[in-house]
Amino acid sequence: MCGIAGYIGKNQASGFLLDALKRLEYRGYDSTGIAVLGKENTLNYVRSVGKINALEEKMKERQSDGCIGIAHTRWATHGYPSEANAHPHSDCNENIFVVHNGIIENYKILKKELIKNGHKFESDTDTEVIAHLIEEHFKNSLEETMLNVLKFIEGAYALAVISKDDPEKIVVAKKSSPLVICIGKNENFIASDSSAIAGYADKVIYLDDDELGVVTKDDYKIISITSNNKVQKNCCKMDLDVAKVQKGEYEHFLLKEIFEIPEVIKNSTRGRMIPDQGLVKLGGLEVLDQSKLRNINRIIIIACGTASFAGLVGEYMLEEYAGIPVEVELGSEFRYRKPIIDSKTAVIAVSQSGETADTLASLSEAKRKGALTLGIVNTVGSTIARETDAGVYNHAGPEISVASTKAFISQITVLALLTVYLGRIRDMSLVTGKRITEEIDELPCLIEKVLENDKQIRDLAKKYSKYKNLLFMGRKYNYPIAEEGALKLKEVAYHIHAEGYAGGEMKHGPIAMIDENFPSIFIVPSDSVYEKNWSNMEEVKARRGKIIAIATEGNEEIKDIADDVIYIPKTLEILTPILAAIPLHLFAAYMGIELGLDIDRPRNLAKSVTVE
Ligand code: GLU
Repeated sequence: MCGIAGYIGKNQASGFLLDALKRLEYRGYDSTGIAVLGKENTLNYVRSVGKINALEEKMKERQSDGCIGIAHTRWATHGYPSEANAHPHSDCNENIFVVHNGIIENYKILKKELIKNGHKFESDTDTEVIAHLIEEHFKNSLEETMLNVLKFIEGAYALAVISKDDPEKIVVAKKSSPLVICIGKNENFIASDSSAIAGYADKVIYLDDDELGVVTKDDYKIISITSNNKVQKNCCKMDLDVAKVQKGEYEHFLLKEIFEIPEVIKNSTRGRMIPDQGLVKLGGLEVLDQSKLRNINRIIIIACGTASFAGLVGEYMLEEYAGIPVEVELGSEFRYRKPIIDSKTAVIAVSQSGETADTLASLSEAKRKGALTLGIVNTVGSTIARETDAGVYNHAGPEISVASTKAFISQITVLALLTVYLGRIRDMSLVTGKRITEEIDELPCLIEKVLENDKQIRDLAKKYSKYKNLLFMGRKYNYPIAEEGALKLKEVAYHIHAEGYAGGEMKHGPIAMIDENFPSIFIVPSDSVYEKNWSNMEEVKARRGKIIAIATEGNEEIKDIADDVIYIPKTLEILTPILAAIPLHLFAAYMGIELGLDIDRPRNLAKSVTVE
């Protein structure tokens, strides 16, 4: 969840570290800190509560020169966001500094033992035990000590450690939280994701679980934590454009990313469709024995948060068009159930970051039980991408805003591609395959039209931001979009309470809340459930509830019932969720702006949930 950065090389470390922290701020922003090893083995650190600017200000007053350093932006799991709890954490003598992403589950027992041995703790974090453990067991070198100490630790971690007792190196380690080493010339970099390093160097090494890395100015080596043997690893080329991790002309990443969606769909579908043959080509799946895919008789989609709603749309698509029974499971639930899985079950993990802890743990469980595992992941080289048998990348580009928009849309798009892919090796006809792929091809143009409603949606946000509650409703393909619309509003405009419901469920409870102060947003494209939605709108109207409708262009009668209408172009029913979600994303963004909130970094949230 948090961001980690490290630098060792010919230049001052603080320049890169601050830049990297700014790029990583979307991963956690409770507090930040930096520690730098300077000349004559001095180790200086600065920590601060809040955003990076506060840290930068403090650094002007304090010594932070040196060519070796580590930095952190925190998303608190143990202990309030305070200066004392901010990373880096140190041992009793401030010889060893540690930054950590994850949770040390057995920290209480370790801390008790260390206190008994005379160690003094300064923070309430789980992380601090690592620094004291290293101090307690230091022998020969930092890496040797860490190889020893990590065997006592239970939980998840990405770590970067520097020490006065063994300078000239940064030692890193990984288990269940991502970490990359980037190789430069007379300098090397470390980060929790490659977006922090884009533009500095282009050769990266993705650490695997239970690996430790020793990084010096000109070299690196990787050692297995379980066997203590050296591991040979290949460098990958990082293909990330720096402009993609900057805001450009936009004031907010969230808006930038929504406006990128037409381009994102082009990238997600490029070279993957042959519309005149009604076929989809997914290179990532072609590596598999196709008879295995043909024999799947059940799919379980595992995801968390927004991705789970994309998964729900996928459930409707795959059942209707590929004829395969599908269930959608939340990673946090699936991992603790006793799932019934066999070799004809395909488990599809959907995750923007490819690092979502609960999804990852569920995937490992499914793999152990013999399922075919597939990934729909945006981040190339991420753990889920590497752990699955095969998969499809989203190609949505880096998503910096904490609330997901373009990645969500690309997940639905990829699920539509997968539906045609799996459908066409089963019963789907050429005609249906053609109809869907031709319409997917049209999506970027249709989305441009949706985005033309930008000004109207901004005005609607002005009008509705004074309400305290909102209900989102949709049916069938757009039921998950009602959930997504409500979730996005909760995330980005969190002073307003929102609920997403399947329209038919309204009379089983939520209708009790409806009155003139409780508006509803209905997603009512002209589809197979239009009349049913209409009845639900009547029920709301009968209770004086205000209605914003998302309806299909050309539908004039909707104005008779809705107070406000946002039009989306006509498309196939299965693709309406894509067009309907975008106005809701814009609505949430503008509501957040109206309320004066930081829409890119809503309070309490972090991108890429790498802890349980
Ligand atoms: N568990 C650690 C803490 O609360 C690390 C949290 C993080 O990943 O930012 O400080």
